[in-house]
Amino acid sequence: MAKELKKVDAVIVGTGWAGGITAAELTKKGYKVVSLERGKEQSREDFIGAKDELKYSIRYDMMQDLSKDTVTTRTSMDETARPVRNNSHARIGNDMGGASVHWNGVSLRWLPYDFEIRSKTIERYGESKIPENCTIQDWGITYDELEPYYDKFEKTAGVSGEVNPLGHKRSDGYPNPPLKTTPSIELFKKAATNLGYHPYRLPAANMSQQYTNPDGETINACMYCAFCEEYGCDFGAKGDPIVTVLETAKKTGNFEIRNESTVTEVIHDGTKAIGLKYIDNITGQEFIQPADIVVLAGFVFTNNKLLLKSKIGKPYNPETGEGIIGKNFTGHFSNISTYIGARGFFNDEKWNLSMGTGALGATVDDFSGDNMDHTDLDFLHGYEIRYYHLGQRPIDNNHVPEGTPAWGKEYKEKNLFYHNRNLIIRAKTGFLPNRYTYLDLDPTYKDELGDPLIRATVHYEEQDIKRAQHGVERCKEIMTEMGADIVDLIDVPDDVKFDHKFYTNHFLGGAIMGKDPATSAVNTYSQMWDMENLFVLGGSSFPHNSNHDPTETIGAFAYRASEGMITYLEGDGGLLVEAKQTSNA
Ligand SMILES: Cc1cc2nc3c(=O)[nH]c(=O)nc-3n(C[C@H](O)[C@H](O)[C@H](O)COP(=O)(O)OP(=O)(O)OC[C@H]3O[C@@H](n4cnc5c(N)ncnc54)[C@H](O)[C@@H]3O)c2cc1C
Ligand code: SF4
Repeated sequence: MAKELKKVDAVIVGTGWAGGITAAELTKKGYKVVSLERGKEQSREDFIGAKDELKYSIRYDMMQDLSKDTVTTRTSMDETARPVRNNSHARIGNDMGGASVHWNGVSLRWLPYDFEIRSKTIERYGESKIPENCTIQDWGITYDELEPYYDKFEKTAGVSGEVNPLGHKRSDGYPNPPLKTTPSIELFKKAATNLGYHPYRLPAANMSQQYTNPDGETINACMYCAFCEEYGCDFGAKGDPIVTVLETAKKTGNFEIRNESTVTEVIHDGTKAIGLKYIDNITGQEFIQPADIVVLAGFVFTNNKLLLKSKIGKPYNPETGEGIIGKNFTGHFSNISTYIGARGFFNDEKWNLSMGTGALGATVDDFSGDNMDHTDLDFLHGYEIRYYHLGQRPIDNNHVPEGTPAWGKEYKEKNLFYHNRNLIIRAKTGFLPNRYTYLDLDPTYKDELGDPLIRATVHYEEQDIKRAQHGVERCKEIMTEMGADIVDLIDVPDDVKFDHKFYTNHFLGGAIMGKDPATSAVNTYSQMWDMENLFVLGGSSFPHNSNHDPTETIGAFAYRASEGMITYLEGDGGLLVEAKQTSNA
C-alpha cells in the first residue's frame, strides 16, 4: 500500500526547464516544493570527459530507456500501433534536468501569428483558407502578453544572440552577444542576403562569454567543443536547469528533489488534486506526496498519460471531434519537418567543421509563420531556413554525394575528400494539428509497471507536405547561391507518410491551452479548467507547432504559470482566468 507523506506547498513531476523554473520561482517566494524525478541525480561533474559519441549519440545514454516505457505509433485509426524501441526515433529526456540538459540551446521566440493563428488567418485570408481537418485555434494570449516572460527566460538561460531583423517587439536585447561566427556561417548569410532574405544569428543558450544570470548563477563561456546536442556540458557553458534554476531552488533551503521516483498517478477527489502517487525505482515502495498545488512537468507523453490514467479531463475522440485530452498532438517530425533540406558538396572550399556548438549558426525568417503571403499557396504557416555549425563528431560525419557506392575505394576517397567540404541547410516547418493526429492510451502495450503506453496516431495532411516541399526548394536555392558544386536534396515525396520515427523530441499538444474550457484543457496560466490546483506545463499545452523550436516558449509559459501559482497560493484559490466562449472549431 502507498505510504502517505507530509503535505507540502507544491509537488512537481519532472526537473526539466518547465519543472525547474517552477521550483525556483516558488521556493524563492518561500514555498516548500518537492520535485519527483524518475531519473538519476546528475551534476556538471558527471559530464566531465563525457565526449563519448558511442555512449551518448549511438547508445543514447541520457535518454529514456524505451524497453521500460515508450510511445506506440500508427498512421491511422484502423492500424494497430507498434512501440518505438529505438532511441534514434524518439529522444526523450530521462535524468535530472531532463532533455533540457542535452538540448542544443536553440532559443527562438515564437511569432505573434502563432498565438492568434486562427483569427489572424481568417482576418487576412478568410475562413475558407483553413483546410477542412485543420484544428488550429487561438491560444487565448498574445505575443505582447507573453513577451515579458520570454525576456525572463532569455536572461535566466543567458541567451547569446542578435536581434532578428524580421522579429517583433522586445523589451530588451539578448543578455549576451552572438557566439563567434565562422566562414561557413558567413557564406550562408551572404547567399541569403544576395537573394533578398534577412539572415541573422541563431539565438543560443551556449554562452558567448561568462555570464551571471539574475538569480546569481554563473554560466561559463562556451568552448565550441561540438559535443552539445545529446550531451551534458562539462564546461558549465550551456544554459540548462542544472546550472541555473535547480541550483537557485536548492539555495533557498525550501526545495527537495527526489530522484529515481516515477510518478504513476494524480490523486484527486474529482474537483481538486490531492497529490501525486509515485514509486521509488530502487525499493519498489509506493508513496503519495500530498500538496496544495500539483504540477505536471513530465514532458508531453507523461503529462498526457497521467491525465488519461487519472481520468482528469475528457479524452479526445477524433470520430466526433469532442473531448480535449490528447487533442492537437504535433511536433517536428523528421521526414516532413526537421531533417529536410539541401546538402551541398564543394570541390574548392574547405572548412573547419569539427568545432561548433549546439546552436551555432544563422537562420532566415522570411518564410516563417505568416511572414510570406499565403494567398496563392496551398498551405498555412511556414518554415525557417537554418544553417547549423554544430560541429561534426567523428562517427557521425560520413557524407558523400548521392550515387556514391556505399563501400569500397570510391566511397573511401569521396568520404575523405568531402569530409570538410559539405554543408547542410535545413527547412524547419510547422507541422499543423489535424483532427486525426492525437494521443490516447494504447489498448495493447503496457510499460514495466503495467500501465498502458501512450499511443500517437500521426497523419500528415496535404498542406504539411506542400509546406515542406516549398521549404526544400528554398534550401536548394540558397545552397546553389552558396556555390556548391553538387546539391543533394533531402526531399519530401508527394505521398510521404509518418515513418514511425520522431528523431526530435519536439512533441506538443494533448492538454492544450485556450480561453474556452470547451476547446482547451488549461488556461494561459497552464491551470486545468477542470481542477484549479492542477497545473500542466511544457509543450503539452501548445495547440499547434510553429516552425521555431519550442523550448524558449515552454520556459516563458513556465514563468507565467509560476506567477499564477503564487497568486493562487497567496489568495483564496479559484481560476486565474475567466473562461470565455470562443468560436474556435
Ligand atoms: C537532443 C535534443 C536537442 C534539443 N535541442 C533543442 C533546441 O536546441 N531548442 C529547443 O527549443 N528545443 C530543443 N530540444 C527540445 C527540448 O529539450 C525540450 O523542449 C525541453 O527540454 C522540454 O522541457 P520540459 O521541462 O518540458 O521537459 P524535459 O526537459 O524533458 O523534462 C521532463 C522531466 O520529467 C521527467 N519525467 C518524465 N516522466 C516522469 C514520471 N512519470 N515521473 C517522474 N519524472 C518524470 C523526465 O525524466 C525529465 O527529467 C531538444 C531535445 C533533444 C532531445
Ligand atoms: S559546445 Fe559549448 S555549450 Fe555545448 S557542450 Fe561544448 S562547451 Fe558546452
